[in-house]
Amino acid sequence: MERLVGVGASPGIAIGVAHVLSSRLDIHERRISAEQVEPEIERFERALLATDAQLAAIQAQIAEREGDDHQYRILEAHRLMLSDVHLVEQARRLIRDEKTSAEWAVRKALNQIQAVFERIEDPYFRDRKSDVALVGERLLRTLVGTNDSTSPEEAPKGSITIAHELGPADAAQLGRAEAAGFCTEGGGRTSHTAIVARALGLPYVVGVEGLGHKVWSGMTLIIDGVRGEVILDPDEEALRRYQARSDVQRNRAHRLGAIRDVPSQTQDGTPVHLAANIEMLEEIPIAADLGAQSVGLFRTEFLYLERNELPSEDEQHAHAVAALKSVGGRTITFRTLDLGGDKLPPSVRMPVGTNPAMGLRSIRYSLWRTDVFRTQLRALYRAGAVGPMQILFPLISGVAELRQAKALCDEVRSELARGGIPHAEHIPIGVMIETPSAALIADLLAAECDFLSIGTNDLIQYTLAADREDEHVGYLYHPLHPAILRALRQTVVGAEKAGKPVAMCGDMAGDPMLAWVLMGLGLRNLSMAPRQIPVVKSIIRATQLADAERLLAQALTMSTETEIEELVYGAMNKRFPLELTDGEENQGEGQAVG
Ligand code: PEP
Ligand code: MG
Repeated sequence: MERLVGVGASPGIAIGVAHVLSSRLDIHERRISAEQVEPEIERFERALLATDAQLAAIQAQIAEREGDDHQYRILEAHRLMLSDVHLVEQARRLIRDEKTSAEWAVRKALNQIQAVFERIEDPYFRDRKSDVALVGERLLRTLVGTNDSTSPEEAPKGSITIAHELGPADAAQLGRAEAAGFCTEGGGRTSHTAIVARALGLPYVVGVEGLGHKVWSGMTLIIDGVRGEVILDPDEEALRRYQARSDVQRNRAHRLGAIRDVPSQTQDGTPVHLAANIEMLEEIPIAADLGAQSVGLFRTEFLYLERNELPSEDEQHAHAVAALKSVGGRTITFRTLDLGGDKLPPSVRMPVGTNPAMGLRSIRYSLWRTDVFRTQLRALYRAGAVGPMQILFPLISGVAELRQAKALCDEVRSELARGGIPHAEHIPIGVMIETPSAALIADLLAAECDFLSIGTNDLIQYTLAADREDEHVGYLYHPLHPAILRALRQTVVGAEKAGKPVAMCGDMAGDPMLAWVLMGLGLRNLSMAPRQIPVVKSIIRATQLADAERLLAQALTMSTETEIEELVYGAMNKRFPLELTDGEENQGEGQAVG
């Protein structure tokens, strides 16, 4: 037995027999004579047409089966790559000028394109490298005339496919072949393949070094798409443990899939709005599929990370418009830049200070670099003409800061109006409650904005003075600490007093174990990682509000987080065993669903 570690790209556990795909064909250099050049170019053209026909056939199958628009469009992009100048023109040129075989010309052109992709800083665009590689390998397979004996559609049912790279079309084929999951040496968490895997519910682990050398077809494997683990040749004990977890997760996913389209409301008819937290555009259709009623938190800083230049106003505008167009009329809450602290892109220079978490981060940075902030606000106000949106300010610690940020919104709006540039006249403005000061004056903040949204990840770290990234003080980080419950209650009461809505978008909102506590507190709008939506909805639908309120009232009489955790976890585990256990013995607390 051996354990390899990569990155979990699509959650779930798969146990099965390895099916190894040799996706990168070994091509050797072959020279041709001057007379062979034209016939070789014709052979190349025929291979392009044949490859395009293969992709078109997969598209047709998709359209016929369920009309999955997303996969269809990815394949459309792949077909376009077959006429890309860098691949096609370059290959033609190499055949003609260097008198090489079509296979060698394609391999060389692909290597050149890959080298360019390697230099791209942005992880989203860098991950597109795998799309180019896949189209190229398919073209090469056609040229070489290799039959599809190693193709994904021949994966045995229940097997785990192992490859250097896999594309979204391969992932779709593996889904149809009823493979148990897949695993690659390359690939990225943000790749299209990972997105399709998540959409299909297929466990997927990427970036596992040494996979190709250590795994052979027929070997038994376990992959864990949450922990990013691959276990080769597991012993009886490991098999038993993972099998138990897998059974529990599969049964739960099956049950939860059935409630996707039913309303999110308690048994006594109280609606609870369930929204998605989004970082990348690709997550939006998946979130909608999982039943998200809106996007409650769009973390815009992900457009800024890992790149050397700040995104321009037009780029940010196009990004926001693309998001608004893909949500089908649902509202998106765009949080303005939350940089600093642990999120420091190379494009942003800021004084780090001795304690970055307490320093110039988030709205403080935006109010310091008003040029950067204005650019983002202009992009958002312009995008506001396209669809319903809200703007949310992070890490507000007082009313003065809110007023400054709002004044900049007013200035930007007037500027756009003066320039005759289409924009939204009114966009609701919200404040994140992430600091103890904001929770204590929630009523004052709510009076001067349109809504509040509680960011518990930061609220807990600042209230308990325990860095959320530092494992040495992790033992202090307790969502059910009495101080946190009081801060939450004070925030809800403050919003009510000002007659403004309040939502929660920190990780607490998506923890099914805490659903009753949140409902008991009066929260009716929860925004979470998309895949948490079904399990939270399932709990809400089986809840009598009075039970949740009783549990909270009892929790509020207790003095320590340990007592409260025992009470809440005990009650929830007893009431919702199917939703909350993941089948692991000695299962820990909270975040029961990985
Ligand atoms: C939070 O702090 O709870 C939050 C949602 O913001 P982030 O996790 O992006 O800091
Ligand atoms: Mg935060």
